[in-house]
Amino acid sequence: MASAVHVLSVEDDADTQALVVYWLRGAGYRVTSTATAADAMRAARDDPPDVVLLDVVLPDADGIAVCTELCGLPDPPAVVFLSARVSVADRVRGLDAGAVDYLVKPFAEAELLARVRAATRTRVTISALGEQAVTDAITGLVNRRYLEYRLDELIALQSRGHRFGCLMADIDHFKKINDEHGHGFGDEVLRIVAQRLLGTMRGSDVVARFGGEEFFVLLHDVDLAGAAVAGEKLRAAVADTAIELDEPGGLTVTVSVGVAAGPFDDATAALATVDNALYDAKARGRDTVALAKGDR
Ligand code: GH3
Ligand code: MG
Ligand code: MG
Ligand code: MG
Repeated sequence: MASAVHVLSVEDDADTQALVVYWLRGAGYRVTSTATAADAMRAARDDPPDVVLLDVVLPDADGIAVCTELCGLPDPPAVVFLSARVSVADRVRGLDAGAVDYLVKPFAEAELLARVRAATRTRVTISALGEQAVTDAITGLVNRRYLEYRLDELIALQSRGHRFGCLMADIDHFKKINDEHGHGFGDEVLRIVAQRLLGTMRGSDVVARFGGEEFFVLLHDVDLAGAAVAGEKLRAAVADTAIELDEPGGLTVTVSVGVAAGPFDDATAALATVDNALYDAKARGRDTVALAKGDR
């Protein structure tokens, strides 16, 4: 969080909202405010906040439900309830819904700001852990967990006409590379191949380490022909430049690439389709690109 910490304040009482916003801005926070649950979710998706100050009683929904939804976002904020409800049961309900804190109204400026500072600390920890959870330690690429999350998103978007493609690249004879040059060198090859894939694909593409020596790319807005072009670029980016070694000439590493394009029935179908294409590429002798059969 290099820029100002972003706080979303969700409160339907105009006086309370005005006061909270005034205090937060005075303390240097970037503040977004909404009065309804629907606007809060929209705001949280459009411009993800670090901390959400959440009223429990809202005109269009129960704040508890909003909290649950906020905590389910891919990059969840730290939620602090602000409520006039003081009972133990209410506080327990709020914290169990995923909130990090529960502040009872009325509250003093100093306490509100201290609670926001505490929530910000929690949020920094959460996002650091979240980043670790989706990053592959060897290559620095996103991992399979993140890939599957994005794949599910793209599957859902198909109903609105969005189309996407998948590439699966598997390093050829990688076991031999490990056997001949050692596991450490194998790891270095994984890093180099990852950088070449990343350098070849568009910024909007998702380049992931899928497993051992398998990489996966999600391509936005492509048909099978477009995905095939990307697959060939990727193959060439790996094969065309030898990897420097102590011995002269270096080592040429190649990948086989499977290509598929939607629409897919579901994520499992997308994975199976591109995996079959990869299998064909291997069967054809490796260092090659194969397209999925039976694509619509
Ligand atoms: P093919 O051309 O059919 O893909 O042959 P291959 O040798 O690449 O495939 P195989 O599945 O037989 O071997 C994959 C190898 O990848 C075996 C495994 O030890 C190695 N591997 C998997 N993960 C890592 C890793 O993180 N680091 C290193 N150095 N090797 C790994
Ligand atoms: Mg209210
Ligand atoms: Mg493999
Ligand atoms: Mg392999």
